[in-house]
Amino acid sequence: MVQPLEIQLERCKVKKIKPPQNQLGFGVYFTDHMFIMDYSLEKGWYQPRVVPYQPIVLDPSAKIFHYGQTVFEGLKAYRTEDGRTLLFRPQKNIQRMNRSNERLSIPQLNEKVVLEALELLISADQDWIPTEPGTSLYIRPFVFAVQPALGVSPSTHYQFVIIMSPVGAYYPEGVNPVKIFVESEFVRAVIGGVGEAKTAGNYAAGLNAQENAKKQGYSQVLWLDGIHKRYIEEVGSMNVFFKIKGTVYTPSLNGSILDGITRSSIIQLLTHWNIPVVEKVISIEEVYEAGKDGSLEEAFGTGTAAVISPIGELSWQDDKLVIQNGLIGELSQRLYDALTGIQKGVNSDPFGWMVELDLTP
Ligand SMILES: *Cc1c(COP(=O)(O)O)cnc(C)c1O
Repeated sequence: MVQPLEIQLERCKVKKIKPPQNQLGFGVYFTDHMFIMDYSLEKGWYQPRVVPYQPIVLDPSAKIFHYGQTVFEGLKAYRTEDGRTLLFRPQKNIQRMNRSNERLSIPQLNEKVVLEALELLISADQDWIPTEPGTSLYIRPFVFAVQPALGVSPSTHYQFVIIMSPVGAYYPEGVNPVKIFVESEFVRAVIGGVGEAKTAGNYAAGLNAQENAKKQGYSQVLWLDGIHKRYIEEVGSMNVFFKIKGTVYTPSLNGSILDGITRSSIIQLLTHWNIPVVEKVISIEEVYEAGKDGSLEEAFGTGTAAVISPIGELSWQDDKLVIQNGLIGELSQRLYDALTGIQKGVNSDPFGWMVELDLTP
């Protein structure tokens, strides 16, 4: 039985000075409070609390440092023009976190407790939710192994933490297409590995390829499958879509691709608009052929941070492919406007995606 947990609230004594809303960047500034909850094998999850934002003290032998038993999530809260506070599909993030936890042998979190934690934390820091167009409050829940022991086995103790950061418009000058390097040497994940989980090691393993791409003037890498280095997986930490002859294609979830919440929302929107959308195995050759014969109309990445990130150019084994003349496509723009409109509470929400928070003063 899950006991209802009473969340303690310890308010900070001094509030931080807030940065100007036009200089927020992404994940640079953090709010006044954070949420913490502990886990032990004997007690389960206990002592949920909202406390002043502060460092975490860990034993040097804590298992997170040695064996990487950790999982994270990312979601956003929005302030509407009429002063409501909305979360975009938060249950999806909590459910995905629990799937990641399962894969990493981390105990399950109670969905209701996490939602209550989000509500109380956002209440405490509601004056941090930015209001300017394109801004939002980015929320980062994460869990990590804290047992002080060097044996390789699942930790007996964990901490679950939520921190929050006001973030600016991802593209201050409007949505800008990016140049992408198709990675042919390194891979992000393999089927049977942890590509489906939002776990730290996936990102650490991708950094060198990303830095190499940056040195050559590309902003992200497009990952191919780990066996054939031929089938498209993801772009950076986003899912990827291609519009070819009026149909939108995205790689099917095969076990090495992250099940993006933006991805599933885009599929739902396209279906609602009667635009054909197909989840299938897509090879890089297919995309290049469509690019060369003129049938590749648009390409874009999807994720919580940027929502839609149009791809203006691909480079695969020194073969460059310019898409849509390097400009944003009509459908990419329509999807971006529709989704951000729902998130900001400007458009109606036909799918019931937004969760309105009941904030206490
Ligand atoms: C988080 C993430 C995504 C996007 O997921 P959203 O739920 O849409 O934010 C895609 N790929 C990877 C590898 C990710 O970590």
